[in-house]
Amino acid sequence: MLYILNSYIFKLLFNVMIWLTLIGRGGQGIKSASHIVSTAAFLKGYYVQSQPIYRAERRGAPISAFIRISNEPILERGYIYEPSLIVIADESLFIDTNLNKDAILFVNTALDADKLRSLYNIENKRIITYNLTGLTLQILNKSIISVALAAVACRLIGLNLEEVEHAVIMQLEELNMQEEVDKNIELVRKVFELISNSNIENEKKRTKSVSVIDLSYHHPKISACYISVPANSISSEGWNVNKPIIDYDKCTKCMICFIFCPDSAIILNKDNYPVINYDLCKGCNICYVECPTKAIRLERNEATLDR
Ligand code: SF4
Ligand code: SF4
Repeated sequence: MLYILNSYIFKLLFNVMIWLTLIGRGGQGIKSASHIVSTAAFLKGYYVQSQPIYRAERRGAPISAFIRISNEPILERGYIYEPSLIVIADESLFIDTNLNKDAILFVNTALDADKLRSLYNIENKRIITYNLTGLTLQILNKSIISVALAAVACRLIGLNLEEVEHAVIMQLEELNMQEEVDKNIELVRKVFELISNSNIENEKKRTKSVSVIDLSYHHPKISACYISVPANSISSEGWNVNKPIIDYDKCTKCMICFIFCPDSAIILNKDNYPVINYDLCKGCNICYVECPTKAIRLERNEATLDR
């Protein structure tokens, strides 16, 4: 295991951007892990961007976090299509995840890389596996793997132990969990021990320069945790009193309602205008509140007039 881990460590160089994607499930601490990684990189002096995508915000739902780290200002935004490194917290997510086949994969699993590759038909050449959940249980006595995931990502990126420890302490203090600091620092150090510090400088060196802001549209089926079962709104008892209606004369196609809708009930049509799927809309009215041009109005939902 140590041999394999040694081989894949890479390091930030001048004019290099690291694209990192963390993938897991709600409750596994993906957002916290991305926060720790980006804080550690920031403390080291890099430009960073961290964008967790919650999709439907519920325990167990797939979650991704996109992190960009560079020693130059980062001008691109949005989805990372070709990450340099993918850290996966839950192997079951392979079934639904389209992976960049050139990326280095780290997977939290008790399986070795060959077994994992054959079980899920993974084409990536470089796969690292380690049972982080087991390690975390051993040290923290609970299965919260955010710090371990962050430590793995930081180590593979080439960040120093000092910055990672600092970032972990900041994160725990922010969450008012100071009593957890010692154990989590022990966990970080253990992960750094497991992964040797022999950086391979040219590994995954990327020099692609992106000078535009990329915010292209993806249907919620691939960009979010798409809820395909209708009547979602009916089960939201007490909600759905008012129904959002879009006035296309006022709509500027800014996509804000699409981005904010927590149930992926808004898609864009071929002309990039938002369209509401009322089978999925739960009537939270967030789109109405967020629309900057007041192009969304509310009408009493007749289906709930008896409430
Ligand atoms: S937020 Fe308003 S203006 Fe923007 S796309 Fe939605 S309806 Fe149109
Ligand atoms: S009210 Fe708007 S934001 Fe809320 S679920 Fe319906 S479409 Fe989405």
